[in-house]
Amino acid sequence: MKKIFAVLGILLVLFIVVLLFNTFTFNSKQVSSTSVETFKMSDSAIEHIQQAIRIKTISNENKDEFEGGPFLDFHKFLAATYPLADSLLTPEVINKYSLLYTWQGSDPKAASMVLMAHIDVVPIDEPTKNDWKAAPFSGDILEDAIWGRGSMDDKGNLIAIMESVEQLLKEGFQPKRTIYLAFGHDEEVGGSQGAAHLAKALKGRGVHAEFVLDEGGFVLNGMIPGIDDPVALIATAEKGFLTLELTVTTNGGHSSMPTRENAIGTLATAIHELENQQFDYKPIQASDELIEFIGPELPFMSKMVFANKWIFGSLILKGLNNHTTIAPTIINAGVKDNVLPTKAVAKVNFRILPGETPESVKEHVIKAINNERVKVEIVVAMHPSEASSSDTKVFKTMMKTIAQVMPGAVVAPGLTPGGTDTKHYTEVADYFYRFSPMSFSPGQDGPHSVNEHLRFEDYRNTLAFYYQFIKNIEK
Ligand SMILES: [Zn+2]
Repeated sequence: MKKIFAVLGILLVLFIVVLLFNTFTFNSKQVSSTSVETFKMSDSAIEHIQQAIRIKTISNENKDEFEGGPFLDFHKFLAATYPLADSLLTPEVINKYSLLYTWQGSDPKAASMVLMAHIDVVPIDEPTKNDWKAAPFSGDILEDAIWGRGSMDDKGNLIAIMESVEQLLKEGFQPKRTIYLAFGHDEEVGGSQGAAHLAKALKGRGVHAEFVLDEGGFVLNGMIPGIDDPVALIATAEKGFLTLELTVTTNGGHSSMPTRENAIGTLATAIHELENQQFDYKPIQASDELIEFIGPELPFMSKMVFANKWIFGSLILKGLNNHTTIAPTIINAGVKDNVLPTKAVAKVNFRILPGETPESVKEHVIKAINNERVKVEIVVAMHPSEASSSDTKVFKTMMKTIAQVMPGAVVAPGLTPGGTDTKHYTEVADYFYRFSPMSFSPGQDGPHSVNEHLRFEDYRNTLAFYYQFIKNIEK
């Protein structure tokens, strides 16, 4: 008996030693950098983003409602506002409404890069129109911020790219590598008309860039427990997107004589079964790297958890929501209160974890529902992305740039649950990074929400980021 206790005691001590050893050797991956002069945001830079917001470049879910006029106005606005870029970077209109600028590098052998943003914005939700503190397309200034639809998503990035490039041109800066600026016009509805055509145009010219940089991760404030500093999340992967339609059809009948099988009841049961059989939480490259970058910055106890993912892995993955998510979003059935429905249809939206596919998700759904009466069909499907490594010169340059313009921010690679235009560029670049240098806090009125606004400080950081990044990547 004594021997058993002795063995258990030794095992326990060993266990604690391993936990502590991993914690103390869990070293920070953050970089420090010499600070740069504080970037001064000019009044004209503020006026320009206000003007950009006022042009209603809206992408409607219903493509018949598309109005091209504002997009052409936006092109004219850019040409008039950024005369050097307009005359020196040969702007081209791609598929009527998207834009491609080419900043020719001095060294034809240097790998090129693509800075991306999108011109379109989501519409205003009519019932919430009056909840806006300033009119949604006013670009008004309120509470140290520029108000309006698109201020964060994605005109903030687009205008900051143009401002930085114009400024660098003014200073006579000449990049060694060719820099493409690619602005799609339908990101909010999938990018098939904009980004897909831009990527095709680049491919047609034989362009293969080292990397693309697009919107995606934000600078998160107070969103990671234990870290007070802002966390600049550079998304190195994105989840896929899938909508499935579940349909149950029956013969119907009179409600006074209900049949055993009711279309609504069967569909409801199917959804209930599906929600009870969630997808597993799984580690992927982006989550492993996130743990490595965030972990060392955490207070001791949390750091110990992150340093020992061999034992706490599933706990962390759950916290990161690292699985394919299930969200029933639309349900339709029935026509009259005394008529049994002949058809019940639901749409369920999934955000697919890298490593899984629309087909494997569909299989899981069919198995979970386990009822042949429920037909399952794919409505929209986009595969999740491959992960781009954080161990690249580009990623390190982004880290350095963030250290310069947002000192104190913790940088981490990670996974974005939303889709971006980068998915169309897989054949024209090696690495894909998604980052908007703007802060985001819990409950903030951000992209797509009522009262979307861009704080002055975030706009300044975004301008400074692109200006400094273009300089840094050349070194
Ligand atoms: Zn966007």
